[in-house]
Amino acid sequence: MTPPGADHSTDSYLPRNGNGGYRVLHYDLELDYRVVSNRLAGRANITAQAGQTLSRFSLDLGQFRVSEVRVDGRRATFTHRAGKLRIKPEKAIPYGATFKTEVRYGGTPVPISGPWGDIGWDELTDGVLVASQPNGAPSWFPCNDRLEKATFLVKLTAATPYTVLVTGDLVARRRGAGATTWTYERNEPTAPYLMSVQIGRYEQVELAMGGITQRAAIPPRLRTVFRHDFGRHAQIMSTFERLFGPYPFREYVVVVADDDLDDPVEAQGMAVFGRNHLDGRRTHERLVAHELAHQWFGNSLTVADWRHIWLNEGFATYAEWLWSEASGGPSARACAINWHGRLRAQPAHLTVANPGVGRMFDPAVYKRGALTLHALRDRIGDEPFFGLVRAWTGEHRHSTVTGGQFRAEAQRWSATPLDDLFTAWLDRTALPPL
Ligand SMILES: [Zn+2]
Repeated sequence: MTPPGADHSTDSYLPRNGNGGYRVLHYDLELDYRVVSNRLAGRANITAQAGQTLSRFSLDLGQFRVSEVRVDGRRATFTHRAGKLRIKPEKAIPYGATFKTEVRYGGTPVPISGPWGDIGWDELTDGVLVASQPNGAPSWFPCNDRLEKATFLVKLTAATPYTVLVTGDLVARRRGAGATTWTYERNEPTAPYLMSVQIGRYEQVELAMGGITQRAAIPPRLRTVFRHDFGRHAQIMSTFERLFGPYPFREYVVVVADDDLDDPVEAQGMAVFGRNHLDGRRTHERLVAHELAHQWFGNSLTVADWRHIWLNEGFATYAEWLWSEASGGPSARACAINWHGRLRAQPAHLTVANPGVGRMFDPAVYKRGALTLHALRDRIGDEPFFGLVRAWTGEHRHSTVTGGQFRAEAQRWSATPLDDLFTAWLDRTALPPL
């Protein structure tokens, strides 16, 4: 169902984000950030392709002062109100044409407030954390904030004592007088919300030897406790590669911010934890597994519309249970029985396939999403189930997916119809028996 006033260019849950008429292919961002005064000056160069003749078009951008907009090098007129930068190029852009939009902007970046709290660019005690799920990307760069993927080049300059991490491969680091410019390239297609910047006084450490590069940026004083709590990361990675297929990026970076965070957050090839997620007893190891699993489910395979969020969170939660079993803890079946019992004790209040924008991050979506996968595994058997998972991650690598596509793919791995199973678990409110 598309809400009134929305068109297909926007998300059914976030109809105010995203813009129609074109598709972004590449973002080139040049940012200068002053940590102490929290000032950001930026130049964005956005390459897009027109899906229709464009006499005007819009970008999403938060509370910055925009000084200039150019389209294909020519000054364009613009207005900037309520998060929308509306641009009128000097000449209409023909259908199918590739065009470049340059936006110069600056100011004090502030997170975007909404039902999920403050999302996006967040000033820390001594640095920056960016966590944009689902609609925080315009808090730091002009974008078409939909679940549509593009490549990125981000060049960010900050005072030299700080380490700057951006989701992507570091391709250059140039040290000037007092400031260092860090250039990161993200060649895998990436949704704007999964782009992230982390700035802090970090020490960089290796997380695992051999295989996929896994490294971390941590406050130096937490080195010992981090080494213990993340000590099994290489095993988690190899377990997931065996179960889910090849890791979809060149490397994985864990950032531990020197602040407390409610929940860790995933970005492309990156996950961000709070110092409160370390305690020297691996209490939060399930979250370590959860965030890594999002690299397959959420980041490489991104939902085409937020209503399919169970595909991200159901898989990431099921990955926690799979790691529990692989690491000698309770089996995935025991975890499923435990959570089924807990959900049964509460009133069922949502449908997993379309929980509604207010409940997209409801724990019931996570746990019941995982239970759906366990029920499916029970029905079709281990070999077809993990064959399905690897086919799913392989065929849709670096693209967008829907719940309907997953159901169709699952059906290919089952000799009997699965409609009853998916209807009961995903489309109805009442919790089915396990
Ligand atoms: Zn998650």
